Amino acid sequence: MGDKNSEVVIIGGGLAGLTCAVTLADRGVPISLFESRPRLGGRASSFEEKQTQHLIDNCQHVSMGCCDEFNRFCETVGISAYFRREKKLYFVGPSHSGKGLSTSNESGIPFKVNSFAASSWLPAPLHLLPAFGGLSYLSMQEKLELARGLKQLARISVDFNNEPTMAEWLAEQRQSQNVINRFWNVVLVSALSESLERISLSHAQKVFVDGFLRARDNWQVLIPTVPLDQLYGDVILKRLEQKQAKVHLQTGVDRVQIEAGKVVGVQLRDGQNISCERVIVAVPHQRVLSLFPDAFEGRESLKRVEEIESAPITSVHLWFDREITELPHAVFVDCLSQWMFNRSRIMQQSSETEFYYQIVISASHNLRGEERQGRSQKEIIAEVVEELSQVWPEARQAKLIHSRMVTEHQAVFSVKPGIEELRPSQRTEVAGLYLAGDWTSTGWPATMEGAVRSGLKAAEFLLDDLVRPESLLLQQSQTGILSKILFRL
Ligand SMILES: Cc1cc2nc3c(=O)[nH]c(=O)nc-3n(C[C@H](O)[C@H](O)[C@H](O)COP(=O)(O)OP(=O)(O)OC[C@H]3O[C@@H](n4cnc5c(N)ncnc54)[C@H](O)[C@@H]3O)c2cc1C
Repeated sequence: MGDKNSEVVIIGGGLAGLTCAVTLADRGVPISLFESRPRLGGRASSFEEKQTQHLIDNCQHVSMGCCDEFNRFCETVGISAYFRREKKLYFVGPSHSGKGLSTSNESGIPFKVNSFAASSWLPAPLHLLPAFGGLSYLSMQEKLELARGLKQLARISVDFNNEPTMAEWLAEQRQSQNVINRFWNVVLVSALSESLERISLSHAQKVFVDGFLRARDNWQVLIPTVPLDQLYGDVILKRLEQKQAKVHLQTGVDRVQIEAGKVVGVQLRDGQNISCERVIVAVPHQRVLSLFPDAFEGRESLKRVEEIESAPITSVHLWFDREITELPHAVFVDCLSQWMFNRSRIMQQSSETEFYYQIVISASHNLRGEERQGRSQKEIIAEVVEELSQVWPEARQAKLIHSRMVTEHQAVFSVKPGIEELRPSQRTEVAGLYLAGDWTSTGWPATMEGAVRSGLKAAEFLLDDLVRPESLLLQQSQTGILSKILFRL
């Protein structure tokens, strides 16, 4: 691997590290990327499912129209054609606005599939009004209550040093339990992978402003049509190799060596030392401090990273012997299941005998081993299948050929009030040391967008230090004129 001081070492081949690698390699900066696993992509990657022998994603990843930097990165590396843009969302909820019971299953009200799409003529932020107005599971009074809540949320200025949780704020706004369960919970828990009792008001505000109010297409969802491994593992790997970037898989880094306030090298887990003057550490927040010496100037300012908490996401993978619905996806309202992805349709796989669906349950704190309330994985899968059967009776006739439940316990960082104080800048106090990762300071929650932004910012700081300054992030998100006027966005 040589002793090349001019080479930039990138530790971690998740989206943050890959963004740094692509950005720097495109500009002729020599790089070596070290990834401890056999694959690139980090948390956004795939694995071979033993029984079906298919390459499946550890969990469905989606992007949104508002993810400007991630979407631009996909164009840069040539993978944007592998995402399908959903211009219509399907919300599955009770067919009318019955109140009181916690789930629509228990209430006995039949389910209805509500199509949700933007009006073709209304400008942002009014473009989704007719779609909200048409939701079967909210009464007119609840829709007005919701409109009042949304307007208030868009207009308030949040004090980051003393902000409430979203649950506290909704209580202050006197939003009813039905509106909370059937709207706020549905949108925010899947967008931020946390429960309303933990989500900070500022992060909730960002979801609605960026996703629903700022510009017309921001709310649209982009779903990969191939396993993530083919995108980040194959296409990006090839591109990096073409640019003479060195990618070392299954090569973990043990330590970043720091002397007299500057980076002097890294030590690999196999004991090999590599001299270098610039390192980008793009590992998850739980791993970052263990890579540094016990004492160095700048450690104190990084220590708060240890206070960042994580939230789990569970995916339930189901293979049926027949198609249970033709819908490409569905969002479940007030159920255990939150999103259904019809992977066979999305991937355009035409098997006559095997139909693959993936159900995502974000903020799955109470599905964790110790908190499952006595339920086994088998029982949780059965509950999910029962929910599908209530919506699509075909599922009751279908044979479940195979199932698998995967819980990522440290899927994302928890967007609790105060989180922004714990997220460090990509530039550190140590000369030549940069950080990247969705958990660094980007203002975004733990998303592919956040990871890409962090990588761009780290690369920007590094190029600045090489006296090659360049603005790498888009200066501003597109904002509709009316949104600017109404909400001063
Ligand atoms: C279940 C789940 C569902 C999600 N759903 C979505 C979604 O729908 N949409 C969305 O936008 N985001 C989603 N996310 C979040 C998204 O995956 C992350 O925000 C993003 O991938 C983080 O990228 P990263 O590069 O910051 O970190 P990571 O992907 O964690 O990459 C860090 C890399 O560093 C490597 N590493 C660690 N230590 C070392 C070492 N010592 N030496 C070398 N390498 C090391 C790791 O192996 C890893 O590959 C989801 C995440 C999970 C887990």
